[in-house]
Amino acid sequence: MVATEIFKVTEILNKQRIFFKTGQTKNVAFRIAQLKILKQAIIENKQAIIQALTADLRKPEFETYASEIGVIKEVDYGIKNITNWTKPKKAEIPLELLPYSAKIQPEPLGVVLIIGPWNYPFQLIISPLVGAIASGNCAIIKPSEIAPHTSQFLAEMIGKYFEKNYIAVIEGGVEISQQLLAEKFDHIFFTGGTAVGKIVMTAAAKNLTPVTLELGGKSPCIVDTEMNIEHTIKRIIWGKFINAGQTCIAPDYLLVDQRIKQDLLSGLQKCLKEFYGDNPANSPNYARIIHQKQFARLVNFLKCGEIIVGGETDPEQLYIAPTIIDHVSLEDSVMQEEIFGPILPIIAYTDIDEAIDLINSRPKPLALYLFSQNQNLQKRVLQETSSGGVCINDTVMQFGISSLPFGGVGDSGIGSYHGKASFDTFSHYKSVLRNSFWLDLNWRYAPYKGKLLLLKLILGI
Ligand code: NAD
Repeated sequence: MVATEIFKVTEILNKQRIFFKTGQTKNVAFRIAQLKILKQAIIENKQAIIQALTADLRKPEFETYASEIGVIKEVDYGIKNITNWTKPKKAEIPLELLPYSAKIQPEPLGVVLIIGPWNYPFQLIISPLVGAIASGNCAIIKPSEIAPHTSQFLAEMIGKYFEKNYIAVIEGGVEISQQLLAEKFDHIFFTGGTAVGKIVMTAAAKNLTPVTLELGGKSPCIVDTEMNIEHTIKRIIWGKFINAGQTCIAPDYLLVDQRIKQDLLSGLQKCLKEFYGDNPANSPNYARIIHQKQFARLVNFLKCGEIIVGGETDPEQLYIAPTIIDHVSLEDSVMQEEIFGPILPIIAYTDIDEAIDLINSRPKPLALYLFSQNQNLQKRVLQETSSGGVCINDTVMQFGISSLPFGGVGDSGIGSYHGKASFDTFSHYKSVLRNSFWLDLNWRYAPYKGKLLLLKLILGI
């Protein structure tokens, strides 16, 4: 690392600390104004966002609107609710402590660090940033170097609309990331893989910095017999193959009731044609793999099981056709790690217990999908499995609901965000107890003689 870069990180951090101390970010009107600026920035730069994502992932314009520019909904939700979120909330006081009053008052943490991944490189920076702004923090942002066009665009956009001493983008790869992690922040919000998540948490521990880790994993999708097969198929194909499968909550693999497996398989093949045509390589609606390393990793998975549809690749175009694989074994590499690409293995079960046991034998997933109208089955799956979130009879849509906290559990992450959860993530809830001077009962003061009976009465023992 060159000395100037180290200097840059420390200098920006120090400037943000000084700005935070001025107290300006604590002003709710200031925060609302900044969120409005952020919204304006997104609106004014729609074309540049589309261009950056085309260059990085050949992301279809529709998908960029839906999953990147659409983050504007989070900004709106913040603007609408911030006044309510920032209000101190009254807390209950026991009767015997009547002269007291209590409240819980949120306050900003200070200067926070946001590290983003490459798959939704715009929205996965902006969405946590909404929380950081709404809670009154300063922020340093480190976008993913693997999506260089979006990273550069973010640096330009944020640099144009915000002062560096309030919100700054520092571009770079692992080295810069580690340089940032060596500094003391007041919170680190990380989105990325589980392995790097551990590195982030280790670095944060040295400074006792709290972390939010938005990680990944293998999100299973159970398909029961009691469902509308046409809707099920469309929703699975959409959720799996948007962004060419490079979605942290894409259904990673299907667990299908043996009795409907054949119907489902032929329906999935038909739907792929409907969505992407006879040759998805020519479809304007289908994205590309981010880079050679991911491409090579994914191509390796194609050796597993039996390809039912897809399997075509083009290294020059970083193209992998939407692929469905049957007859995989649980030991195959495709079932050992998060796929994070357009490959969908199918595993049949004869009894739902097998599906539940399989899910429970693995690290807790970020998302769990269940297609079934059977209420008892829905209850069972909810009760007997653990995952960051659950979506019943659909895929991926849970991410877009601002009132639902989004995050993992166990290996899929720590903490959550979106809407109020983002505000909570970047706030400290300060407990405030207030006494007055109009009364001062003696029961707690020494000498204690003759007061024990009253204390026992208060304690109820
Ligand atoms: P990644 O962990 O490789 O990289 C994420 C960020 O960490 C990048 O900014 C990168 O520069 C930085 N980084 C990489 N190596 C580092 C190191 N050794 N030390 C410090 N920083 C380092 O993740 P990715 O490949 O960009 O994204 C893919 C993963 O992210 C998948 O596992 C996916 O499931 C997960 N993901 C999760 C969510 C979520 O919301 N939970 C969203 C998107 C992606």
